[in-house]
Amino acid sequence: MSYDSDNIFAKILRGEIPSEKLYEDESTYVFMDIMPRADGHCLVIPKTPCRNMLDASPEQLTACLVTVQKMGHAVMQAFGAEGVTVQQFNEAAGGQEVFHLHYHVLPRHDGVKLRPPGTMADFAVLKDQADKIRAVLG
Ligand code: AMP
Repeated sequence: MSYDSDNIFAKILRGEIPSEKLYEDESTYVFMDIMPRADGHCLVIPKTPCRNMLDASPEQLTACLVTVQKMGHAVMQAFGAEGVTVQQFNEAAGGQEVFHLHYHVLPRHDGVKLRPPGTMADFAVLKDQADKIRAVLG
């Protein structure tokens, strides 16, 4: 399986479609998931191409996980969460829908289930939630 540079996250990285950006560094980019399964659900991606964990370089994996940890702390603080769930899917059979490596970071509250997938966010609400996370990140 090869990398398709027309995938939606590659287009976000090139600025061809909009995203609610939360953070970036030299190697990674973070933005809100448009179909959030929890308030504050965001996605961490490498800036360089790879489909998923299976073809990622050690450098891409390391950079992503360092940013995942940073975002885990940030979303927990922004939403007063007691925990955080990190999800990452590989190939269609593994549940992957967008074929650019990404980590889901989901703040979690005791006893609150994730929402079912597939419901588009209200963009004003998404921006408010992003503002809370950006405020924590400074
Ligand atoms: P998966 O590949 O199964 O990890 O799922 C892809 C995720 O990307 C889903 O949670 C979608 O809601 C999310 N998603 C798809 N398109 C966009 C987009 N344009 N901006 C932000 N998130 C997106």
